[in-house]
Amino acid sequence: MKSGLGTKLAVSYVLSVVVVFVVTALFIDQAARSGFIEELTTSTQAQSRAVAVALGTGPVDRSVSDLAEALGVRITVIDAEGVVEADSTADPATMTNHNDRPEIIEARAEGMGTSTRLSQTVGEDLLYVAIRDGDRVVRLAVPLEDVRERMFPVRLRALLGAVVVSIAGLAVVVVVSRRTQRLMRALTASVTQIAAGRSAEELLVGGQLESSPEVSELSEAVRSMSDQIRARVGELETEQDLRDRVLEALDEGVLLLRGALVDYANPAARRMLGSSLSADGRLRNQALASLAAERAAPIRMTFGARLVEVVVEPSADQSVVVLRDVTDRVRTESIRRDFVADASHELKTPVAAIRAAAETIQTAAEDGDMAAVSHFSRQVEASAYRLGRIVSDLLDLSRLEARDLDVGPTDLAALALEEVAAAELDHVTVTVDLDPVVIQGSPPDVALALRNLLSNAARHTDAGGTVHVAVKTEGDEAVVSVTDSGSGIPARDLPRIFERFYRVDTARSRHTGATGLGLAIVRHVAERHGGRVAVQSELGVGSTFRISFPLLTSGLGIDQVARDFT
Ligand code: ADP
Repeated sequence: MKSGLGTKLAVSYVLSVVVVFVVTALFIDQAARSGFIEELTTSTQAQSRAVAVALGTGPVDRSVSDLAEALGVRITVIDAEGVVEADSTADPATMTNHNDRPEIIEARAEGMGTSTRLSQTVGEDLLYVAIRDGDRVVRLAVPLEDVRERMFPVRLRALLGAVVVSIAGLAVVVVVSRRTQRLMRALTASVTQIAAGRSAEELLVGGQLESSPEVSELSEAVRSMSDQIRARVGELETEQDLRDRVLEALDEGVLLLRGALVDYANPAARRMLGSSLSADGRLRNQALASLAAERAAPIRMTFGARLVEVVVEPSADQSVVVLRDVTDRVRTESIRRDFVADASHELKTPVAAIRAAAETIQTAAEDGDMAAVSHFSRQVEASAYRLGRIVSDLLDLSRLEARDLDVGPTDLAALALEEVAAAELDHVTVTVDLDPVVIQGSPPDVALALRNLLSNAARHTDAGGTVHVAVKTEGDEAVVSVTDSGSGIPARDLPRIFERFYRVDTARSRHTGATGLGLAIVRHVAERHGGRVAVQSELGVGSTFRISFPLLTSGLGIDQVARDFT
């Protein structure tokens, strides 16, 4: 288990106290001891001088022992040779030469010498003080035991003082550490709550932390840190938001992949991948997962009905994969290719017919066969007319595809009346039901669409049939319809009749000069206006073609709609 801050503080405090105490005790002990010894030395020096005076200069007698006893010291008298003349404790005859004793050497040199050591004669620690007295040296020795005894109360007082101070200090440490612990806990709780999203102001101002000067600096630092984190998080969120918005708005799909694991997929990528992306964010498409591991040239893959171009930007642990849906582009390209091929083919037929007829006319003219000249001239005229119609329809189509509509108020009923009047409908009974409906549109283009529908109705309805033209409002749409009682269209052809160059009965339509472009033009006009076309037809009964235009009651202009459809 981890020990708390309080315990750590108390342990460090006790250790410091012990160290300080030991060092101080040694110092005091040493100082006191030196003081005592100095004092003892001074008094013993005085005694030595007194003893030297008392002994006089004559031979030493028994009075040495009496003096020593009276003074409570040991007295030794050493002659000039270092021989012990007298000693108050031992027999001089048994004592060795004393000239090598340090206090004796010092006394001879300087008049006085001191030394402390264990006496070989009496076997205890002694303080020796020697003074020179003429040729002889008088030495007094006192036991150091006295010093030790005098030091005991000093040591005891020092120990007691240290114990009292330590206990008081420990109490202070306990109080301070408890308080610090409480503040630390409060600060930790606050920081935890800040990390969980609460405001630093709310937690740190006015509370326990604010009132404590010890931690106010720390709490200020936490507050400023929290402010900075908040600001940084805010910036990151803004950046993230911007990135998300950009990625979400992209038509390209963007994936972040780690192997088959999808870390991120923008909406376009999710749309394109469809069921290839599992709900738990895994890529079901193995080919793409393995492709994502290495850089490769853009590759095309199919996801459901979509054709997608894949570009991989691999990195050590995460690859960026960009997906571009090229279905429409590829389809448009192929339609364009087909269109060029179809248009060339369609143009070739009348051109070849003209060339053949012209050659025949030339031969017939040389032969003087005027009937043949006249017959083939009419064929040239018919083919040229057909060629002219194809070219004119193609120009209409490319104009509709290429430029923006020139829109304005378009009166559908008036346009319908004009076109009905101009159409070749003498062989049928024409009825109209026209409500006054005005749309925002391009009058020449709407007229062109109507012209094509009326021309088809006229061509496919036999004499005596009927053609009915209506302009109505249905919900939020304006609807123009042309109904005939003509041949009708086989159900299998219905889905394709709005395609370019698609004809139901190729042989017959060539004969009638049809181009197969009329309904494609109608569809284009409708779509450029934001509308659509529909057909209902029954073989032998007749057909109804309807163009619906949006009724633009809102502020949205046709320009906008037209651009959206380009
Ligand atoms: P075309 O110039 O051949 O008429 P369209 O695109 O206008 O070309 O028409 C495509 C085909 O749809 C025609 O070949 C024709 O068979 C059929 N069609 C169009 N309108 C009618 C109609 N009102 N009645 C019967 N068939 C129609």
